[in-house]
Amino acid sequence: MKRAILTKRSLIEENVVLKKKYDISIGLVYPSSYQASLSSLGYQVLYYMLNDYPEVFAQRVVSTGQEPAQSIETGAPLKKLDILMISASHELDYPTIVNILRFSGVPFLRDKRGASEPLVIVGGAAVTGDPKPLYPIADAVFRGEVEDMIPEFVDRLSYFTRSRKRAFLEELADVEGFWVPGIRENALIRITGDLESAFHPIKQIQNPETEPVFGRALMVEPSRGCARGCAFCMEAAITRVRRERSYQTLKHIIEKGLEVNRLSRVAFYTLSFFDSPLGERLLKFLSDKGIAASIPSVRADALNRERLELVKQVGQKTITIAPETPVLGLQRVLRKHIRDEKVLEVASHVAELGMGLKLYYMVGIPGESQDDLLKIVDQVKRVKEIIGDRRRVKVSVNPFIPKPETLLHSAEIEERRVLKKKLYLLKHELGKYAGRVDTYPVNLAYFQYEVHKRGKDALDLILKHADKVAHILALRGSRGGVEELG
Ligand code: SF4
Repeated sequence: MKRAILTKRSLIEENVVLKKKYDISIGLVYPSSYQASLSSLGYQVLYYMLNDYPEVFAQRVVSTGQEPAQSIETGAPLKKLDILMISASHELDYPTIVNILRFSGVPFLRDKRGASEPLVIVGGAAVTGDPKPLYPIADAVFRGEVEDMIPEFVDRLSYFTRSRKRAFLEELADVEGFWVPGIRENALIRITGDLESAFHPIKQIQNPETEPVFGRALMVEPSRGCARGCAFCMEAAITRVRRERSYQTLKHIIEKGLEVNRLSRVAFYTLSFFDSPLGERLLKFLSDKGIAASIPSVRADALNRERLELVKQVGQKTITIAPETPVLGLQRVLRKHIRDEKVLEVASHVAELGMGLKLYYMVGIPGESQDDLLKIVDQVKRVKEIIGDRRRVKVSVNPFIPKPETLLHSAEIEERRVLKKKLYLLKHELGKYAGRVDTYPVNLAYFQYEVHKRGKDALDLILKHADKVAHILALRGSRGGVEELG
């Protein structure tokens, strides 16, 4: 049995798990800022589920890869932990993961890690979509949702010793969802069968001195997955089946969660909030109780006046929709059809309610012409005319990136030069009708595309970006940095 000491941050935090005795230490590595980790529900699910087992002490390690990483709970250096479970929700996390490992004295190549180094397991949406780019780095990759996996994983830990990693990995390869280089490379994506009975943290990490990136709120997941089947959407492709928790269960999570965490706001985490009557029912409940809430981006065709009023009543000022493109032919390619009239109808409700509207569009869709871009400008122009105040319209334009597991996975990304031109044009034209126009950096889109295209041979590309990120962070001496690569 091992013993733990405490760090300053773990003394400030509330609901932190500390253990005096345990057999195996697991570092839950979050390759981003501490503020972002506080807003990650999946990270906290893993933390509390693993710590429910007395033999395991799961400690959080949050780092952007600028310096040697250590656990928040005990200050243990990364390389002293037995197993690292690293979240990779996005391909851009890969360079950060490399930097975290190398700054912490842990070889980033699995072949170079010996008995004195931790075993490295990576999970999250990016590797669920395609684990191959991490072939030389990860000892194992978990593809899918964790709830049903954890009991089986902990059961296999009885085989774990640092000197017999291979035996443990062979055991792990039998657990559904684990992709283990050289042992099992045909793992299917594992999804949680019954969301209603799946663990949902009620106590959540709170830090009175630090505001989470999405604001202070109880994180609540009413449903998971999306059955709409848009051809470009990896998030939905890897979860596919839409599942819900019952209203009663969610009411309990909300009531208890707000009380024990001493919070007054709920943040819903879901891909498809209004795809059943549940979303509306939850907002009515919160509105009646005078509790504030926020919802993520929703399908425009799931919105109506009543639902928008509810969103406003719970205190959300801006609603986000993603028309992607107003062009019918391109909507057909994307298999996402949001009618022009529906966008304008949402805009008029938003105008009447005095809210703001954020719209997501995509460029570089296979078959797209220059005229098609002007149709985006025209749609935003009409939205602005309806809403009146340009400052209440925000637009985000993102390049189409063919993603693994999606119907469009084998499509090509638009030529780099052309994409840059299109984004430049849209930024300029849309700026006339929107208070804010964000465009996604083309270089980062290309990184995501190329990392999958190269598959097992992506290491050089990941290392190149890791060096760039490390360089930028060293110059800035601050948090974040990957976004500057664009
Ligand atoms: S883009 Fe939205 S509606 Fe379409 S599959 Fe993804 S989550 Fe569902």
